[in-house]
Amino acid sequence: MDSRPRETDAPGDPANGAAPPLAAAVTAATGDVEIIRPRNDKRGYRRVVLPNSLECLLISDPDTDKAAASMNVSVGYFCDPDGLEGLAHFLEHMLFYASEKYPEEDSYSKYIAEHGGSTNAFTSSEHTNFYFDVNSDSLHDALDRFAQFFIKPLMSPDATLREIKAVDSENQKNLLSDPWRMSQLQKHLCAENHPYHKFSTGNWNTLEVKAKEKGLDTRLELIKFYDSHYSANLMQLVVYGKDSLDNLQNLVENKFCDIRDVGRKPFSFPGHPCTPEHLQVLVKAVPIKQGHTLRILFPITPNIRCYKEGPCKYISHLIGHEGEGSLFYVLKKLGWAMSLEAGEGDWSHDFSFFCVVIQLTDVGQEHMEDTLGLLFRYIKLLQNSGTPKWIFDELQAICETGFHYRDKSPPINYVVNISSNMQIFPPKDWLIASSVPSKFSPDAIQNVLNELTPETVRIFWESKKFEGKTKLAEPWYGTSYSVEVVPPSIIQKWVGKAPEEDLHLPKRNIFIPSDLSLRSVEEKVSFPAMLRKTQFSRLWYKPDTMFFTPKAYIKMDFHCPLSQSSPESAVLTDVFTRLLMDYLNDYAYDAQVAGLYYVVKPNDTGFQVVSSDAPCNAHVLT
Ligand SMILES: [Zn+2]
Repeated sequence: MDSRPRETDAPGDPANGAAPPLAAAVTAATGDVEIIRPRNDKRGYRRVVLPNSLECLLISDPDTDKAAASMNVSVGYFCDPDGLEGLAHFLEHMLFYASEKYPEEDSYSKYIAEHGGSTNAFTSSEHTNFYFDVNSDSLHDALDRFAQFFIKPLMSPDATLREIKAVDSENQKNLLSDPWRMSQLQKHLCAENHPYHKFSTGNWNTLEVKAKEKGLDTRLELIKFYDSHYSANLMQLVVYGKDSLDNLQNLVENKFCDIRDVGRKPFSFPGHPCTPEHLQVLVKAVPIKQGHTLRILFPITPNIRCYKEGPCKYISHLIGHEGEGSLFYVLKKLGWAMSLEAGEGDWSHDFSFFCVVIQLTDVGQEHMEDTLGLLFRYIKLLQNSGTPKWIFDELQAICETGFHYRDKSPPINYVVNISSNMQIFPPKDWLIASSVPSKFSPDAIQNVLNELTPETVRIFWESKKFEGKTKLAEPWYGTSYSVEVVPPSIIQKWVGKAPEEDLHLPKRNIFIPSDLSLRSVEEKVSFPAMLRKTQFSRLWYKPDTMFFTPKAYIKMDFHCPLSQSSPESAVLTDVFTRLLMDYLNDYAYDAQVAGLYYVVKPNDTGFQVVSSDAPCNAHVLT
């Protein structure tokens, strides 16, 4: 599957020709801008800009039992002062403590917990996000407490020391986590003068010991950082509630108008983290967990600069494909790979990486060079394929269906996504963001494809097998590693000696729907009706009379009386369903790409096939 690895620091096709693009997207009038929103979305949206320049999006959902809010602050660990690693993250923690208006410690978190909600926050490279959800009738009081984070937080001296310890214990936990370790190793092997190189979370050493050695008072530095960086014009707020838009607007105007606006210029970090010495490298690293991972990275033009053309989506769709003729299909057939993901990794407006992550089997570990050879052969094939438009049309159809007919997500997730989008996208794209490529540009795709070269590659190869064979250690997490230079001539050799396999572009995807119209159902049906009955099977059907979306839910029960008759048969049934899923993957991968998820699993009377969330040609799969 294609993927877009998360950027976090503290706590995410038809039978004959492609489906035609769906009709023009629905827009919601929201004052001075129209926000593109899903076609089946009945919620009210309104954009409001307060006099202090705080940009807000209000969402009114009369059916919700949970309210939620998220404040995105366009300040992240890239802004940490030199020598005070983790200050932005530490500030994120400190704002939870207490405020002048609510001086009792943790009164915010307590209030939310007592009213059916939850709170959290995370600090990323260029933003910090605070959020909560709560029973919908408690939104007013919750927001009053939340707003004080950004108006008058206390940041008392005794809380400071305790919270440095909390940040340190968070770091202790991360020390044993391979995703954190490998992410920092990638940052470590970059230019030291680029903020990407920084250690994002901080620990006791950076925030207390070293700060003291330099004669710095961490609390004063924290207050200085808050005063100069946390300005209303760099914040984006989303509030989701049951109330009408007018009431929500009153509420937000009341609670948030006192946040200071110091007119801070948005932060920018020009330049690329990689200089030539950081390219053409093979890094062998020792992970904590068993397993072998091959991570191939290429610096590319950030997709955000042309998100309507969506070149990375197009390329990750193909490199991450699992159908017949794909790279993963071939690697799996050879017994070398268990999974393969491809997509844009860490990125900002100024730099970005395209990543291919392959989980190797024990045998695959012995064939790293061949695996790399096959990857580069597949990339060459894409570079020479002329970017066929039908592939883009399929992708656009899949993404449009996904956007317009997706189920409602929990309000807390929804607000965090949107407030993060607000920092990056113009108001009309706050909801759709970069999820739907809409302009076919062979040039944009070709440009990124041409950036995937042996001249610029960075290969990170992780395996316990390298234990005792590496000489270096990454300073923050202590990950053992070694670095070798891999010139393009070596990669060309690997390409030349990799096995001859039939790599080719995927076939057209027969699961992409071309007709999303709904059959009209005259009367409300309460019970399923039996459509067919034979000696061996029965088929029941019930039309949806509530949601009116082009989706189907199919459940098939296979009765196998002996399947659970002994522990052995229970295990064998389980193994059988897993093998069946694995066997079907080459064929059913297209269905998943088109949004039709299915699972085969054992149950009490045999096994079950369930497919859901299927705004597509579900009948083709069955
Ligand atoms: Zn934290």
